[in-house]
Amino acid sequence: MSPAIWQTAQKHRKPVLCNFLGRAEDSAGFVELVTHRVPSYSYPESAARALAAMHRYARYREREEGEVRTFPVDRGVAESVLARARTENRFLLRGDEANRLLEAYGIRTAKTRFVRSVDGLAGAAKEIGYPVVLKAVGPTLVHKSEMQAVLLDVRGKEALLDGASGIAARLRERGVALEGFLVQEFVTGGTEVILGMTRDKVYGPCLVFGLGGIYVEYLKDVTFGLPPLTDRDAMRMIESIRTYPLLKGVRGEPPRDVKALQDGLLRLAQLVSDSDQVQELDLNPVVVLPEGKGYRAVDARIVLSPPSVRT
Ligand code: ADP
Ligand code: MG
Repeated sequence: MSPAIWQTAQKHRKPVLCNFLGRAEDSAGFVELVTHRVPSYSYPESAARALAAMHRYARYREREEGEVRTFPVDRGVAESVLARARTENRFLLRGDEANRLLEAYGIRTAKTRFVRSVDGLAGAAKEIGYPVVLKAVGPTLVHKSEMQAVLLDVRGKEALLDGASGIAARLRERGVALEGFLVQEFVTGGTEVILGMTRDKVYGPCLVFGLGGIYVEYLKDVTFGLPPLTDRDAMRMIESIRTYPLLKGVRGEPPRDVKALQDGLLRLAQLVSDSDQVQELDLNPVVVLPEGKGYRAVDARIVLSPPSVRT
């Protein structure tokens, strides 16, 4: 029977896999098949898994590669943000500094002002325009909302100043150092996603994308990508999460600006490839607005590598 199988397999371009229950490594039929390049498995499940892997690989080979675009960058701004942190021996960029680095690469962030004391708050808020978001800044303050150090939808000067003194009192109580405040544009009407990067010793920068908010923790619905990314790679990353339909618009919600998000992801890939001092980056969340309106990163955490690691 074995010759009939491999001779037929050789005449056609269809993949042929065999399954021999109860065979041994030296069963004559098995040896004959594998020496004629017909893989033969002991269990149908293994054969089915191999076929599925062949199918995935064929699709991967046939996929449209797309192009790697290079975006114009304001290198002066990017360099000055990094240089300043370096001279001050800081590894964590302040929120407004992180935004400046991102904007130098054309990655959109919520309009943000940093003020050192409450005296500057009202002016900053006026410049940005109410309603605003108020966030405390401190060298050890990472999960700001856990510390009740984020106030959303602040509608006027009084609420702003009350909010700031409330935050300052809470942080003082907990012994958390306060360096100042961020006053930020309040971004509404979007879907929250996360974009991030961790740097692997072997693979280099590894990008991550997923839906934001509570979903990240519960669904672990994220996808990874290695730069350089082509435009198709970025789109495939975005489309591959299970919750992608939420971005396309469900229950009558308008579709989100996925094209803009793709552009942001590509620019981020360029940023992390250019600056190997950026050790870790977390945009959590990025608010993706309805089609045509873009997206805004509203919380940016950028960690630099310590000097000894820098080249
Ligand atoms: P942290 O992650 O340190 O707790 P964030 O800056 O991410 O603090 O703020 C907490 C949450 O508040 C965000 O996940 C987002 O839902 C919301 N938020 C923060 N900034 C803005 C903003 N500028 N516009 C709208 N919503 C915001
Ligand atoms: Mg956050």
